[in-house]
Amino acid sequence: MSDSIREKITAVLKLSHDLGREERGLAMLGEGNTSCRLDAETFLVKASGTSLANLEENQLVRCRFEALLPLLAAAAMTDEEVAQALLASRVDPTAPKPSVEAVFHAYLLSLPGIEVVGHTHPIAVNQILCAGDGPSRRFAEERRFPDEIVCCGAKSVLVPYVDPGTVLAQRIREETERFVQAENRPPRVILLQNHGFIACGATTGSVLAATLMAEKTARIFVGAAMMNGPTALTPQNVARIDTRPDEHYRQRMLKL
Ligand SMILES: [Zn+2]
Repeated sequence: MSDSIREKITAVLKLSHDLGREERGLAMLGEGNTSCRLDAETFLVKASGTSLANLEENQLVRCRFEALLPLLAAAAMTDEEVAQALLASRVDPTAPKPSVEAVFHAYLLSLPGIEVVGHTHPIAVNQILCAGDGPSRRFAEERRFPDEIVCCGAKSVLVPYVDPGTVLAQRIREETERFVQAENRPPRVILLQNHGFIACGATTGSVLAATLMAEKTARIFVGAAMMNGPTALTPQNVARIDTRPDEHYRQRMLKL
């Protein structure tokens, strides 16, 4: 195994353990999954039924992009057909079954600049995403303070609830393509209504930072909703933070 693959395995295991820490309330039991791109043809993704908190190396499955990306264009598939496609995507046929969400991981890791993906079900973020369209849309489209912009980007993708698996992967692609067209860059954060949260980034550090900052923002949003309601930064203020050279310097220093 090459040094660079060894480093990526170590980094994604650490990210998984960081996201799975019980006191953070981001994921419990088998919730959530992580992935990282290994090379142009393959990526690693958490195995089905495993736990982020104590994920082990043999529970990361190496999968081929070319076996999973066609599912983004597939018509309705039965659960059995999806299970077969997931098993057929493994580089090592003795490896465990990849997570059912491996299809959206494959899609996001195929976008430029995205090397790592972390999916969780954070408590405060889900308080908002389970509160209907109004709060969900405000949380996705508005920004409330500068560090939220630095870690989570100036806007997030919002995906309505659909069945987890290939239908969700297809909807994530549709909404992400719309975002890329409008914003001219890939998203840092994707919000799944009545489900959870996805952070995408160039490094495991940027995925962890986006997740922790989004959860902190959600707690502030929910707290502010109990008083006067959350107030948003103006689009001018958001654009200013987003393009300031000192904020870009901070992003580089934090390896975001
Ligand atoms: Zn999920």
